[in-house]
Amino acid sequence: MKRLLLCLALASLAPARDLDRIEKLLEELTNAHGPSGFEGPVRAIVRRELAPLATRTETDGLGSLISVLEGPAGSPRVMMAAHMDELGMLVKYITPDGFVKFQTLGGWLDQGLISQRFLILTRKGPVLGITGLKTPHVMGQAERTRVFERDKMFLDVGATNKQDAEERLGIRPGDPIAPDSRFTPLNDGKLYLAKAWDDRVGLGVMIEVMRRLKQNPPPASVYAVATVQEEIGLRGAHTSAYQVKPDIGLSIEVGVASDYPGISMDEAQERVGAGPGVFLHDSSMLPNVKLRDFVAGAARDKGIPLQYELLSGYGEDGAEMQKVYGGAPSINISVPTRYLHNHNGLLSRADFDRAVDLVTEVIRRLDAGAVQRLKSFD
Ligand SMILES: [Zn+2]
Repeated sequence: MKRLLLCLALASLAPARDLDRIEKLLEELTNAHGPSGFEGPVRAIVRRELAPLATRTETDGLGSLISVLEGPAGSPRVMMAAHMDELGMLVKYITPDGFVKFQTLGGWLDQGLISQRFLILTRKGPVLGITGLKTPHVMGQAERTRVFERDKMFLDVGATNKQDAEERLGIRPGDPIAPDSRFTPLNDGKLYLAKAWDDRVGLGVMIEVMRRLKQNPPPASVYAVATVQEEIGLRGAHTSAYQVKPDIGLSIEVGVASDYPGISMDEAQERVGAGPGVFLHDSSMLPNVKLRDFVAGAARDKGIPLQYELLSGYGEDGAEMQKVYGGAPSINISVPTRYLHNHNGLLSRADFDRAVDLVTEVIRRLDAGAVQRLKSFD
């Protein structure tokens, strides 16, 4: 009887249907581990997907993957950028008792780090650990409502001591650490739950746009760039943009949804399910205003709903494409997402599909004349 109940409980959590092709791609992209500087597993997926769709594939000296779909001779260079890295950590040192202290990579919230499962990616394979949280049994009232600071945190990997952590588990200083969280269609509805939507959803959009452009080639040369180290300062976009020298920059990112309790329109404006977003302000760049109107025109003509976002924080790869050489008109197009920079984010399939429609249509319209008009300030 007990066993039957357990089976029923497990069955209720399993997806009620098979995943379709796009869901399988998004599942693979989000489940892959790629903290900043350790994007290899994600790069392998993107390379596998884009190599058959591109004229050629190359990397820059920092590790960003550049897949080129050559257009007609002399056609403008359109760079799409989506970043492969996710928030993570690095092993700092191991205490004599075998607990792992860490250095964070990217913009974590201290509350988001605590009492979570992480994987330490060692040379011997992934090692599961949890950021241990002191029990409330021993806390006074004041301590119970306090935020625990990251400097006091540690990972418990079940090691008996430092030597056990080093020798049996293979943990070394500098090993990357990634959140442990799996892709799931949430309660079999229209929203997908996963870690690392920032920016694996951008990679998914970019791959699907390239698939459509391969079928029906655009009037531009398209550079699909999967960048590294975005979360620690847009570093991969900086180097890859110099390699590509874009005429136009399209950053594809997560948007900040503000459609749940406790967040307001004053902080962010996108809603999940209301279509892709266009950033009008963030702390790293302002979009080119002609390109903004060009994107809005493409959306209007194709009946794609569009949202706008103005954030006071947030940086993105568009800022680097915009400033390369003499400068290039750039914009950030987003898929609205809830709960970013945590173990679990939520976004909608409909927004993903509409973002693919929008970016494809924008690139189809970027012929030499259109690009010349966008780049002109006369
Ligand atoms: Zn991002």
